[in-house]
Amino acid sequence: MTGKSTLNIRFDNTYARELEGLYIPWTGAPAPAPKMLLLNTTLAEDLGLDPAALASREGLAMLTGTAMPEGAAPLAMAYAGHQFGGFVPQLGDGRALLVGEVINRKGQRRDIQLKGSGKTPFSRGGDGKAALGPVLREYILGEAMAALGIPTTRALAAVATGETVFRDAPLPGAVLTRVAASHLRVGTFQFFHARGETERVRKLADYAIRRHDPDLDGRADRYLAFLRRAIARQMALVAQWMAVGFVHGVMNTDNCAISGETIDYGPCAFLDSYDPLAVFSSIDRQGRYAYDRQPVLAQWNLARLAETLLPLINPENPEAALPAAQEALEEAPEIHAAEWRAHMGAKLGLARGAQADEGLITGFLSLLEGQKADFTNSFGALAPALQGDQTRLSGLLHNAEGLEGWLTSWRKRLEQEVGGAEDAAGRMAAANPVYIPRNHLVEAALSAAHEEDLVPVRRLMEALAQPFTRRAGFEAYENPAPDNFGPYMTYCGT
Ligand code: AMP
Ligand code: MG
Repeated sequence: MTGKSTLNIRFDNTYARELEGLYIPWTGAPAPAPKMLLLNTTLAEDLGLDPAALASREGLAMLTGTAMPEGAAPLAMAYAGHQFGGFVPQLGDGRALLVGEVINRKGQRRDIQLKGSGKTPFSRGGDGKAALGPVLREYILGEAMAALGIPTTRALAAVATGETVFRDAPLPGAVLTRVAASHLRVGTFQFFHARGETERVRKLADYAIRRHDPDLDGRADRYLAFLRRAIARQMALVAQWMAVGFVHGVMNTDNCAISGETIDYGPCAFLDSYDPLAVFSSIDRQGRYAYDRQPVLAQWNLARLAETLLPLINPENPEAALPAAQEALEEAPEIHAAEWRAHMGAKLGLARGAQADEGLITGFLSLLEGQKADFTNSFGALAPALQGDQTRLSGLLHNAEGLEGWLTSWRKRLEQEVGGAEDAAGRMAAANPVYIPRNHLVEAALSAAHEEDLVPVRRLMEALAQPFTRRAGFEAYENPAPDNFGPYMTYCGT
C-alpha cells in the first residue's frame, strides 16, 4: 500500500468555484492507521480513477480526508431540513466533506464525497465520525440499489481509520467515499430560503439547472420547469422503491436529492414479509416514513422545495406563483401512480401496467398482506406459476383466500399481452429480483466485519451484484429471515 504520487485526478470543482458563500472550505481529520476495506474498482474505472492509486498511501489519505491531492477543493456544504416534520434551519455536512467533482466515462459530472472524515463547522454536538457498521451498510445497500437499476448514490470505497469511535459502545471508525450526481438536497434550498437569501437560492437553482436539467438553462420559465423535473424524478424514484420493497426510513428534506437519486442510507431496510405499515427506524415512532407513506411524504418534501422557488418563479409577487407551483405538485400523485403501475405491472408480467390494472396489482398485494408473505419471493414465484409450477407460490400463500380467483384474473389479463406466457415470464424475471439485501444477511455480514472477517460482506455483495440472476451457491441468500429474527430495528446518525 505504498507508492509515489500516482493520484492524478482531474477535478473540475464547479460547486466550489461557482457557489462561493454557500459552503465552507474545510479539511478532514487525520486517520491514524487507514486500511482499505472495500474498493469499488468498476466504479473507480468508470470515474477515470486508477484503483491502484486509490489504494496507495496517497489514495488512502484522500479517502479518509487526511490529506487532499492536487486539484481537490474540499468543502462542507450548508443545508437545512425538515426532520420528521419540524424545521431545522441549520444541518449541513456535519461529518461529510465534498472532495471535488470529476467527469465520468459517460461525460457525466460526479461528486466525490467523504462521510465520516471528522468535525466540520456543521457538526453541532457530533464527533464528525462514522462507525464501521453503518459505513459498510451504506456501501452494501447503495450498491445493491444500483444493481437493481434504481437511481442512487454509489459507494467508491470504505476505509477503516484505525480509530475508535464512541457510540453506545466503542466501535471501529471508518470513512465511506460516496459518489453522487450531486449532493444538492431540498434542504440546501431551504437553508438559504429560510434566511431570506433569495439571490443565493437563485444561484443555487441556476446551478442545479445547469447540472441536472441543462436544457432548461436560460429559459424564462426555468424555475417552474425545474420544479416539475425534480417532482418527476423523485416520484419515479419512490415508485421504484415501492416495487422492490424498500423503506428509506428518514425521508427528511435534507435526505431528498434534487437529482432523484436515493441518498443517505441510514435506518433503511427492505421488506421481508409484506406489511404496508412497515417501519424499521428506531426513531420513527409515529410511522411517518412507513413503506406505504413514502409517496405522500415525497410529495410533502417537494412542496417544501416549491416554497423556496416561489420568489424565483415570480420575483415581484411570490404568492402569485403559488397556483402554478400547486398545479405542478398536484401532478405528483399521478406521476407516481403511472410509474408504480409500470414497475408493479412488470412484476406481474405486464408490458404496460394501465390504470385498469391497479386492481390486479393491489389484489396481489392484499393476498400477501393477509398472509404476511415474503414480498420478494412471492413475486418471484409468479413466473413459475404462470409456466405451470404453482408449488412455490401456493407454499408462500398457503392460506390465502382468493388466490385461485386472483390467478384466474391474472392469467386472463396476460392473455391480452402479445408474446404470451414466455414474454411475460421474461418481463417478470427482469422486474423481480431473486436477491435483495435481506436484513438478517446484512446484519450477519456486518457482525463478521466487526470480527475483521470481510468474506461474508464480499459474498453478499456478489449475490447482490446480479440480483435478477439465480446462481448456484447462493441459495441461502434467497431465504427470508428465520422466525427468530426481528422485529428489525435500525438506527441513524451512527
Ligand atoms: P443524517 O441523519 O445522517 O441524515 O444526518 C442529519 C444531520 O446530522 C446532518 O447534518 C449530518 O451531517 C449530522 N450528523 C450525523 N451524524 C453526525 C456525526 N457523527 N457528527 C456530526 N454530525 C453528524
Ligand atoms: Mg442526511
